Amino acid sequence: MNFNLNSILRRDLNKLVPYNVPRIPAGTIKLDANENPFDFPADILAEICDRLKQPITRYPDPLAAELTGAISEYTGVPVEGIMAGNGSDEVILNLLLTFGSGGQVVIAVPTFSMYRIYSLIAGAVPVEVFRTAGFGLDIDALCRAAGRAEARVVILCSPNNPTGNAASTKEIATLLECSRALVVVDEAYIDFGGESCLKLLKGYPNLVILRTFSKAFGMAGLRVGYLLGNPAVVKELLRVKQPFNLNTFSQAAACTVLARKEEFKSQVQKILAYREKLAGQLATLPGIDVFPSQANFILFRTRLPAKDIFESLLKEGILIRSFRDPELKDCLRVTVGREQENEIFLEKIRKIVNA
Ligand SMILES: *Cc1c(COP(=O)(O)O)cnc(C)c1O
Repeated sequence: MNFNLNSILRRDLNKLVPYNVPRIPAGTIKLDANENPFDFPADILAEICDRLKQPITRYPDPLAAELTGAISEYTGVPVEGIMAGNGSDEVILNLLLTFGSGGQVVIAVPTFSMYRIYSLIAGAVPVEVFRTAGFGLDIDALCRAAGRAEARVVILCSPNNPTGNAASTKEIATLLECSRALVVVDEAYIDFGGESCLKLLKGYPNLVILRTFSKAFGMAGLRVGYLLGNPAVVKELLRVKQPFNLNTFSQAAACTVLARKEEFKSQVQKILAYREKLAGQLATLPGIDVFPSQANFILFRTRLPAKDIFESLLKEGILIRSFRDPELKDCLRVTVGREQENEIFLEKIRKIVNA
């Protein structure tokens, strides 16, 4: 046998590198992944375990009917227009496998890096359309790209990760009008600000909205996201979706969290107050420019090399996020943490920039 792994490998995968999460020492203050910083409420966790009625020896409900019912009640979207996934990451990949393969995927950059990566995995060509100087959408350029015959999907994030600004529904409506592609609006951070384009769903069969339980709802470790869209879009996605994508525990957890949403909404209110305080204090530091944020993180540009600040903070036990995009040169992103975490971060970065 003359087996050669290289000879059977998909050539186009050489553009991809495995997702790398730095290994961090215990006790590091984690302000890098936009997670909910509070401890998950113990009584809600107990309720989730109580709700786990279906035995775990059986496969989960492939349509997550109880959960999609609860999401329907929460959003006002009929269940036929809802699909839950193993994180919105899975939903993005399924969208691109269903509609993107062999065509172009238009992405408003800089943004969440996974859109480009999933496009490549799906065998689609990512087409990057740059945002304007303040990271606003270049609607004319997006319309030109989305109007091409090869365009299959347009993805934009609002509020945008990592820049923090949101698109208006007016801009999204313009894009929906000019696009021959499906327009996917990722609202992962919508609980923290920005205007949801949910109201456009009735008028535009080419609109798809993504939401997640990973950020405001504190469930990043349980992997639940969902899509809101036209029932015809969901019907096509169901051909591609793995039947048992969302495990029984996560389905129960998301149902419980929605039933207890008021507690998460009050956590969000705290995070918003911390964000304003953090942004205000960060802006007073020498050589730091803060971008306005409608999310649970703050992007800032530094006069010192961003890499140096990132590494100095890590030495002090604080992990934030750095970037490789040329448009984000010398930018860093910090997640809004608990009050004390934010204070420690400010104290350490103040020392670094004043040194
Ligand atoms: C965090 C994040 C998500 C959430 O992904 P999950 O797979 O649901 O955890 C989706 N989109 C963006 C832009 C994000 O930042």
